[in-house]
Amino acid sequence: MLIIGSHVGYKKDSGLVGSVKEALSYDANTFMFYTGAPQNTIRSSIDLENVKEAYKLMQDNGIDKNNVIVHAPYIINLANGDESKFNFSCNFLSEELKRVNTLGMKYLVLHPGSHVGQGVDIGISNIIKALNKVLSNDESDVMILLETMAGKGSELGKTFEELKQIIDGIKKKERIGICLDTCHLNDAGYDLNNFNEVLDSFDKIIGIDKIKCIHINDSKNSLGSHKDRHENVGKGTIGLDNLINIINNSKLKDVPKILETPYIDGKAPYKEEIALIRSKI
Ligand code: FE
Ligand code: FE
Ligand code: ZN
Repeated sequence: MLIIGSHVGYKKDSGLVGSVKEALSYDANTFMFYTGAPQNTIRSSIDLENVKEAYKLMQDNGIDKNNVIVHAPYIINLANGDESKFNFSCNFLSEELKRVNTLGMKYLVLHPGSHVGQGVDIGISNIIKALNKVLSNDESDVMILLETMAGKGSELGKTFEELKQIIDGIKKKERIGICLDTCHLNDAGYDLNNFNEVLDSFDKIIGIDKIKCIHINDSKNSLGSHKDRHENVGKGTIGLDNLINIINNSKLKDVPKILETPYIDGKAPYKEEIALIRSKI
């Protein structure tokens, strides 16, 4: 069965119930949310009654909690070795893992980090150090999904080799998975016209079984542009056929697909995009 949804809001007042209702309004059977604003680390406490009500709503409407994804805020940068920034990022990630666990979800998507001029190898070793530190102090089974990045600025995780290098350094490997992002793959230089080859290469380097989420986005920019600007489904350089081909891949059948495409005239495009995708499956 196609597991598809989108990024949805998570607000202080409506909490997880609000997120589920928004997902249902798009005819989605999963969703992804940030536990607060994506660009800051202000987080309010979780109302367990609200969470209970959200689970009832999910159950009644065929949303399996194991397919729901949480995204960590962009501001966490585990690759920056500056001591106070490094500690801030580690502490926030620890708290975020606790929140995800309290909310009852299984997956937390994380941008691996940007080396901010310190170089790829130092950046990667900082990420490894941070993840080992955070995971050694966390008893939950929440899995951190490292996202494939576009390679904008000094972003790490723009190649499968870099992601593999990170995973190799992790002690609790069972706690690390991967989130593919189609816009990022394109912008990083992976040609999605040949998705089977891209996936084969991923499988050889990391292993398909590590893929636990796929962000479905078209791209405003060309192959290898390192830009990271998402476009609506079928409106960009990747194109509808390639996105459908990825969504339809039998090896990725059970992996939740999440839209992070831009709003159109201030309105979420997800209901229409989900309907479009369903019509092509
Ligand atoms: Fe992301
Ligand atoms: Fe993404
Ligand atoms: Zn992006």
